[in-house]
Amino acid sequence: MTIHAAQPLPVVSLQQASKRFGKGPGAITALAAISTEIHDGEFIALCGPSGSGKSTLLNLMAGIDYPTGGHVYLLGNDLATLNDKQTARLRADAIGFVFQFFNLLPVLSVFDNVYYPLMLNGFSRRVAQDQVMDMIEKVGLVDHYRRQPGELSGGQQQRVAIARALVKRPRLIVADEPTGNLDTRTGQEIVDLLLTMNQELKTTFVISTHSLKLRDQARRVLEIKDGELKNDFHNV
Ligand code: ADP
Ligand code: MG
Repeated sequence: MTIHAAQPLPVVSLQQASKRFGKGPGAITALAAISTEIHDGEFIALCGPSGSGKSTLLNLMAGIDYPTGGHVYLLGNDLATLNDKQTARLRADAIGFVFQFFNLLPVLSVFDNVYYPLMLNGFSRRVAQDQVMDMIEKVGLVDHYRRQPGELSGGQQQRVAIARALVKRPRLIVADEPTGNLDTRTGQEIVDLLLTMNQELKTTFVISTHSLKLRDQARRVLEIKDGELKNDFHNV
């Protein structure tokens, strides 16, 4: 008798997942029957021209949006079988999101922006303090924890957003063009930070990008075009 090692449960699994916007002749097929699996610890670049479906795919992977065909499984849970509250819970526990335009709360300090997800989970500032400061230190902003986003450079703001996404130690971080609003050098610093967090914290990353550099540095590359997965390969 052969004993097979149990397959680890993928963080995200898409089975023929598709997404259409609108109905009838004017409908847009943003994603056409995508099947792929994302496993713990991966660092994936999602590449493709503008309008190819990158953001739509990331939104499905993060449980922010639902497929109109096929299935999306988050940690083994078919999104179609969960109610909104259950999906929100799963997303809050397991997924962090990083955006192109940072999406920080402008009137809150760096500390409070990073504390925010823990506050929503009912943690007092005092209980959360060490965890928040530890993450602020990891992204290199200890000297700035009292500042507001408007007092920081773009690269520093993205570091705050990364700390906020990581503070709950999610299984997966989905980042939608996180370097798209930064100059090349600052963008590279952000990519280096994401790579370090992937190594240190073992967090899984899926990052949409136009950066050829990031495409080369990622361990795995997904390429989409016109909503179809054209390539799925590992860099050596
Ligand atoms: P990318 O992130 O690669 O630029 P998107 O996922 O944003 O691509 O868009 C893929 C396609 O879906 C595009 O044709 C876009 O216009 C369309 N699309 C995206 N979001 C919506 C929406 N909310 N309503 C209608 N069409 C949309
Ligand atoms: Mg996009």
